[in-house]
Amino acid sequence: MRWSKTLHTTLRDEPQEAEIASHKLLIRAGYVRRVSGGLYTFTPFGVRVLRKVENIVREEMNRAGAHEILMPALQPIELWNISGRASQMGASMFSLKDRQNRTMVLGPTHEEVVTDYIAHEISSYRQLPCTVYQIQTKFRDEIRPRFGLMRAKEFIMKDAYSFDVSMEAADISYKAMYDAYVRIFERCGLDAKAVEADTGNIGGSHSHEFMVLAPSGEDGIINCSGCGYSANQERAERNTSGSEFSTKNGEPEDVPTPGARTVEEAAQAVGVSPEQIVKSLVYLADGKPVLAIVQGTREINECKLRRVLGCSILELADDETTVKHAGPVGSLGPAGVNLPIYADTGLKGARDVVTGANKEGFHTRHVSIEDSVTVKAWVDIATVVAGDNCPKCKEELSVQRGIEVGHVFKLGTKYSEVFDASFLSAERTSNVMVMGCYGIGVTRTMQAVIEQNFDENGIVWPASVSPYQVTLLELDAKKDENCRIVTENLEKELEENGIDVFVDDRDERPGVKFKDADLIGCTVRVVVGKRALEKGGVEVHIRKTGETRIIPLADVIPAIKKALAE
Ligand code: ATP
Ligand code: MG
Repeated sequence: MRWSKTLHTTLRDEPQEAEIASHKLLIRAGYVRRVSGGLYTFTPFGVRVLRKVENIVREEMNRAGAHEILMPALQPIELWNISGRASQMGASMFSLKDRQNRTMVLGPTHEEVVTDYIAHEISSYRQLPCTVYQIQTKFRDEIRPRFGLMRAKEFIMKDAYSFDVSMEAADISYKAMYDAYVRIFERCGLDAKAVEADTGNIGGSHSHEFMVLAPSGEDGIINCSGCGYSANQERAERNTSGSEFSTKNGEPEDVPTPGARTVEEAAQAVGVSPEQIVKSLVYLADGKPVLAIVQGTREINECKLRRVLGCSILELADDETTVKHAGPVGSLGPAGVNLPIYADTGLKGARDVVTGANKEGFHTRHVSIEDSVTVKAWVDIATVVAGDNCPKCKEELSVQRGIEVGHVFKLGTKYSEVFDASFLSAERTSNVMVMGCYGIGVTRTMQAVIEQNFDENGIVWPASVSPYQVTLLELDAKKDENCRIVTENLEKELEENGIDVFVDDRDERPGVKFKDADLIGCTVRVVVGKRALEKGGVEVHIRKTGETRIIPLADVIPAIKKALAE
């Protein structure tokens, strides 16, 4: 392909709309163009990278024995009523009416459609195990679409679903997908790591996320250097046995804390450190109020609380609801509150702490939680932070940022039961299939590759997903006929060798061509110019290492092949 025949354009200035490096580079180098918030057009260059990522995913899925299918993006709401997720998805699911006034949705995921399909297709244990997958567009009305392809309203996902005769068999299918994911991300040139994850509204018992480590990542990852424990902050646990509280306890006593709304303000008004304050919050779990309490300097982790409560929708109660069921906001405390109270395990043994007095403008000090509060359950509901202790080996934990590129779930029978996906066993009994589901954000992965592979001059594509493996700069073509001929021959020769090549044949200054080549970021750059030709060769430059050498024409192809294989 020649630049003069494409519509490719690069931008000199940083796009206003972009916040993180990969998003800026995608736009500046000309891979995507914004249509509106969370919606992008892929340019011919963008599509080339996307297809390469897709192909890696497809090859590894096929290698793992999964079968490619294609389901509709447009789905009848009835399927979502069967699974009970129509209400759970809430406003994040795009919904519309067809001309018969039937409600349809644009699929944010495909558990419902695929389970219904398999329920009709598979009837015998002989047809199991079975894993199917598709690479397709998904739609989610994200609260905050941002960071370009990272969190879009429309994006491409590879979603796979496994069906098995038993939990043990399902573990084997899960492992096969897990291993395929490791290979996929490695082939994309990504340093990804699997961490324990929350299952969210997909459901199921067990899941791992594949995280690409990057400071711009939206997810927190908790790591233990002692035993290798690694989990998403949404789910991570901590050891609380060492929590230190005062052993003394005076008589509970109300102290005025006028106007104090925050933990810091209350601590200051009472004259204690914020660690001694206990924070109380009313939540609605599927509409029912509960009270959650945690040490004042900690955050309540809503993912963990939701799992503990076993509810599908968890929301913080508004002020009115809080006042109605518990006490005044700002002076809310657990003592005497007639709601189920869930206390973070870190508060076990807490004495001499300060809680809201449930009386406007007052807090109570010298409180012992175990003596004064009727706790329904001691549960781990606080967000784990750096410096906490590992739940497995008690070593100190640290935090990193990550981009979630893939997610594998053990689903159990949540969907197969309601869609009656059952099979006849060898003993002629009817059993429900055990499922797993496995997603990769293909477009997010494409951008994550950039987030891990760029420098101050532009993108540094790994050879496996580079839009063209080689970019060929034709310099001095106007002055020197030989440059034109050598470029043409080299282009042909590269193509004959199965190497895709992009020729910058524009009538531009060399400086402009070099800058664009760096920005676009193809793995190898070859420069055909008068000076090198006089020395009998062309200049071969490796984008990643910066290594530049003049290579005799006869040796160019093997040299490029070698560079691409590294
Ligand atoms: P997140 O927590 O980032 O919203 P999720 O848990 O909702 O992700 P899944 O439902 O597991 O994601 O979807 C599978 C994969 O699809 C994710 O691992 C991610 O790579 C990708 N993905 C999810 N939402 C988006 C989005 N809005 N834009 C681009 N990719 C997405
Ligand atoms: Mg999401």
